[in-house]
Amino acid sequence: MKKYDYLVVDAGLYGAVFAHEMIKKGKTCLVIDKRNHIVGNIYTYTKSGINIHRYGAHIFHTDNLDVWEYITQFVEFNNYINAPTAAYRDELHNMPFNMNTFSKVWGIRTPADKVQ
Ligand SMILES: Cc1cc2nc3c(=O)[nH]c(=O)nc-3n(C[C@H](O)[C@H](O)[C@H](O)COP(=O)(O)OP(=O)(O)OC[C@H]3O[C@@H](n4cnc5c(N)ncnc54)[C@H](O)[C@@H]3O)c2cc1C
Repeated sequence: MKKYDYLVVDAGLYGAVFAHEMIKKGKTCLVIDKRNHIVGNIYTYTKSGINIHRYGAHIFHTDNLDVWEYITQFVEFNNYINAPTAAYRDELHNMPFNMNTFSKVWGIRTPADKVQ
């Protein structure tokens, strides 16, 4: 039976990064996962040309240059900007909600003016 330096029980981001770094140091890793796919919660698959996030939408964000340089050695990112809106009574509102939203929806100026 083949022997490994590490058994990594997680084919998600953590396990993948750990295994990658250990292999760079000359170690051997066996990565296993109870799911039938890799990358854990960020798993996506393609249907009719559309990327579908099986476990919920994921947006990568960091202000850490080391993290950015690490991740971009593997993948290229596009410049998607997350700007969700919510439609309420035929009007669009920015999300997440803030005092401007409540002012527009309920005509109040401070939390103390809460609608009765
Ligand atoms: C709906 C949703 C949306 C998110 N959105 C964002 C986002 O927009 N931006 C962001 O930065 N982060 C987001 N996150 C968080 C991000 O998904 C996690 O931080 C990241 O995926 C964690 O990676 P991980 O390797 O630690 O864990 P996971 O991705 O959970 O991977 C762990 C893996 O280990 C396996 N495993 C666990 N126990 C066992 C076992 N006993 N035996 C075998 N296998 C096992 C699991 O099957 C899984 O595949 C979101 C998370 C969710 C759920």
